[in-house]
Amino acid sequence: MTASDSLRSPAQDVVVRAPGKINLFFAVGDLLDDGYHEVASAYQAVSLFDEVRARHAPDFGVTFTGSIDTSDLLTDGSNLAIRAATLLARTADYRSGVALQIEKNIPIAGGMGGGSADAAATLVACDALWGTGLSRDELLGLAAELGADAPFALLGGTAIGTGRGDQLSPALAMGTFHWVLVYSATGLSTPQVFAALDEHRERHAPDIGPADPIPHVSVEVLQALRAGDAHVLAACLHNDLQAAALTLDPSLARVLELGERSGALAGVVSGSGPTVAFLTADADSALGLHVSLSASGLHAVRATGPVPGARVISRA
Ligand code: ATP
Repeated sequence: MTASDSLRSPAQDVVVRAPGKINLFFAVGDLLDDGYHEVASAYQAVSLFDEVRARHAPDFGVTFTGSIDTSDLLTDGSNLAIRAATLLARTADYRSGVALQIEKNIPIAGGMGGGSADAAATLVACDALWGTGLSRDELLGLAAELGADAPFALLGGTAIGTGRGDQLSPALAMGTFHWVLVYSATGLSTPQVFAALDEHRERHAPDIGPADPIPHVSVEVLQALRAGDAHVLAACLHNDLQAAALTLDPSLARVLELGERSGALAGVVSGSGPTVAFLTADADSALGLHVSLSASGLHAVRATGPVPGARVISRA
């Protein structure tokens, strides 16, 4: 049997790890007729992981453990992990189910793509468990059906996303960036944050004019990534959704101010928030910032990026 045959043969127990993401740069175009926005995003996968364990079962089910409170998360067919497993089963004409156990460490509704990470990890786990042997491109196609951020959770690293964020091209990034992330006790709903941005743009249209019809990631971001220069990257962190997130959760303004006063090079709301990502100069600065934000009563964690996308970490 060759190595590739053994990957295609079914397994009994598979564990896959998938990362959360930070949007280093997020530009949002105008609301389109289909209700979506065209976006341009620079994503970085960071060392904050959800782990999905998959075992054979007659039906589809999911349970949660981990550092994040999942008591409000539905575990029925609406859960992104179940949607991923059933989509793969339908696609591969697989006739049984799967028991999924997820160790959740990425905050829920936090702007870090946690649900997308679970969806991507589940696709990879079930593919290995069932021996369906789909190609990476086929898995990327399924991921795009599950959520705009799910293809990036598969790909990992650093990448530019266009369209709805799901048309990806990898970006060259040198070295390691050191982040401190501040969680919020309550999540923000992605559709509500986009709606707040639309409303703001409509109200102020005479002053600010229409949004860029084809949003793009600034060239300075790509240069900073290529150079591995945290100081330059800090100067070009940007999120069109940040003002809307701050309107819905004004306490985020204080968090941003505190982080930037306590040693961060810069802070930015990630995606639709409310997680705030602070970029620091190096590992020591990240440690100092982590200690000082925690001492102020904030829930802060350290992470580095880039890290790889959804990968099998154990297979039996
Ligand atoms: P994004 O940054 O991709 O917009 P997010 O990180 O803000 O997303 P998620 O944690 O992905 O938010 O959750 C978005 C919604 O998806 C939540 O309201 C949650 O109830 C639902 N959801 C469904 N399945 C999951 C899952 N496995 N993990 C987290 N959320 C899930």
